[in-house]
Amino acid sequence: MPVSVFDLFSVGVGPSSSHTVGPMRAGAEFAALVRDLPVASVVVDLYGSLASTGQGHGTLGAVVAGLMGSHPETVDPDAMVLALETLERDGVLRLDGRATVPFRLADIVLHPLTMLPRHPNAMRLRARDAAGTDLADETYYSIGGGFIARDEEAEPRGRTDADGASAAVAGAAIPVDDTVPYPFSSGAELLAACARSGLPISGVALANEAVTRSVPEVRSGLLGIHGVMESCVERSVLRGGCLPGGLDVRRRAATWYEQLTREDPDHDPLFAMEWVNLVAMAVNEENATGGRVVTAPTNGAAGIIPAVLYYVLTYVPTVSGASTAERDDAVVRFLLTAGAIGSIYKERASISGAEVGCQGEVGSAASMAAAGLAEVLGGTPEQVENAAEIAMEHNLGLTCDPIGGLVQIPCIERNAIAANKAVNAARMALRGDGVHHVSLDQVVETMRQTGADMSSKYKETAMGGLAVNVPLC
Ligand code: SF4
Repeated sequence: MPVSVFDLFSVGVGPSSSHTVGPMRAGAEFAALVRDLPVASVVVDLYGSLASTGQGHGTLGAVVAGLMGSHPETVDPDAMVLALETLERDGVLRLDGRATVPFRLADIVLHPLTMLPRHPNAMRLRARDAAGTDLADETYYSIGGGFIARDEEAEPRGRTDADGASAAVAGAAIPVDDTVPYPFSSGAELLAACARSGLPISGVALANEAVTRSVPEVRSGLLGIHGVMESCVERSVLRGGCLPGGLDVRRRAATWYEQLTREDPDHDPLFAMEWVNLVAMAVNEENATGGRVVTAPTNGAAGIIPAVLYYVLTYVPTVSGASTAERDDAVVRFLLTAGAIGSIYKERASISGAEVGCQGEVGSAASMAAAGLAEVLGGTPEQVENAAEIAMEHNLGLTCDPIGGLVQIPCIERNAIAANKAVNAARMALRGDGVHHVSLDQVVETMRQTGADMSSKYKETAMGGLAVNVPLC
């Protein structure tokens, strides 16, 4: 059953959907669960990738912010930093914003070498009474893209009920029943739905979303998501200096923005790609700063879809010179198409770097963006499927090896490279007739198998690749 586009594109804070958004969501849910219990202390254990790269990915602060009652879609990133500074100074945690218990970030117990069976990103949260007896004991998994699941739950969840207002804006998830007009969980099923209905991929996705919310709500929700993407870029190009975390990585977006706005657009036939680079890097620099971003479908890969959307709105002649309503239509069609492709990756493989490496994050985002672009450029469903396939085929095997466990190197540049790859994949697909050798389903399955075979050193543990070959000083 397709995952809702509003679960794949949700508003959160950086730097990582699996290591920041998911843990915050889990912490908030646990805090609500124990709200009325006589809690005197809490115990937080992080396992696997959450423990090995949690410091650099902001996991410790995120889970504690969740325990304090913050939700990823509504938290003010600056207020969160202040709240964590107060916690460190006073050694007191206000559970769900109310009961106080003694706690500091150093109390979080890290188990980097222990992988719980269900997923490499696991956390155990316990609440105890004054006698030290467990009142609640829950294990959560953060499975990528901000989705979480408790031990006993078969199906992971994106936005939770606890996310409150923001969930209401986005609407409910697509139901798992026969009210969905075009159920699909593979590229073949999606193409069959298009053939049966005569609709483009975005039309099939819209019909499915319209089961739980009106078409105007879908449209305004997606335009709202795009607005958050644009605000993210606008904030980022005003920031200078270095990114946080200790690597002393200089922010480049502000300087590049200044340069590009001064340059003659006609001096270079590849000028458009400079802007694609800039938008992707601006989003990912904001993500690395812990700012507000849209998971698309993850935070680490959050720059690719906004960058390719920028290309659509600025450099696709049928869109750039169109009316506001037509430009909005293009944004909505792009995001619905990208979401339909993303839901296939989510259903049949993974969008989690900790599970399948960076091919699942940056590869999936590039594939989604290529599909969105191909559809806006007028591609048939088969050409759109081909674009999605090409973009993933040439990201297969991509490892996750962030230096210092920070979502900075190689992540920021990688988004820019992948956004350009997505543009190229869409253009290549549109030169063909949609008939091609490797199907999207075959490449999705190849990605899943490659991820399963990949050493855990290359799956968001910062224990291999660039993470061990580039000195941290
Ligand atoms: S290398 Fe890729 S998967 Fe790993 S943290 Fe960076 S963007 Fe995410």
